Amino acid sequence: MIRLDGVSKRYPDGTVAVHELSLDVAKGELVVLVGPSGCGKTTTMKMVNRLVEPTGGRIFVDGADVTHTDPVKLRRGIGYVIQNVGLFPHRSIVDNVAVVPELSGWSKARRRERAHELLELVGLPPDTYARRYPHELSGGQRQRVGVARALAVDPPVLLMDEPFSAVDPVVRGQLQDEFLRLQEDVRKTILFVTHDIEEAVRLGDRIAVFAQGGRLEQFDTPASILGA
Ligand code: ADP
Ligand code: ADP
Repeated sequence: MIRLDGVSKRYPDGTVAVHELSLDVAKGELVVLVGPSGCGKTTTMKMVNRLVEPTGGRIFVDGADVTHTDPVKLRRGIGYVIQNVGLFPHRSIVDNVAVVPELSGWSKARRRERAHELLELVGLPPDTYARRYPHELSGGQRQRVGVARALAVDPPVLLMDEPFSAVDPVVRGQLQDEFLRLQEDVRKTILFVTHDIEEAVRLGDRIAVFAQGGRLEQFDTPASILGA
């Protein structure tokens, strides 16, 4: 579903963020990218949805070369969840979840119905949370809203960049549990970045271990990586 073929990224200042990376994610698979800060994980994710253009190699999503896909269309099929969510502070939770449906021209009634369904799915009962504003939620709850928003138009692919890293360990464990249950239902194809190896082992079907300089050191199942 996602394939990177000898992908490199050298930023204009000469920094090599990713070096000849080849990686694939099967449909419904969750691949975790782990490694120290600065080893190219975020750059890798951003090349998949074309927030960053590679300087070498090719990337395919669902068989199509992303450099030949209109970025707006590409991103409708790729939900994106980041560390501090970036919710719009002056929009209610229901309107934050429905941002992409709104851009896609859905009617107000349909957006509301979809947002309520998703809030329920991520454990934020809409009767309580839909009309609140981001500052009225805890960090963990805001991350749940971020997941709901990313799922709004039911994209087949999710990119998740340290989605649970900004919350305390107890809440992180809860979010991981809930996320695993959610993934059983929705079966998205997922690239997931973390620097927490325990999180990687817990969530990943396979783990890609990055080394400094954007090189792939290992790419295997958690069991094989722990046994290695
Ligand atoms: P990670 O997500 O693993 O922390 P990043 O992909 O964010 O790594 O960064 C990889 C390398 O590329 C780092 O050395 C970082 O400083 C550099 N980098 C990231 N973004 C840019 C940019 N826009 N311009 C120049 N260098 C960048
Ligand atoms: P967490 O353990 O997820 O970090 P917090 O300790 O921040 O949660 O919040 C605990 C509870 O308090 C949550 O259920 C949240 O809904 C509620 N809460 C936190 N901040 C506010 C607020 N500003 N207004 C209303 N409820 C809040």
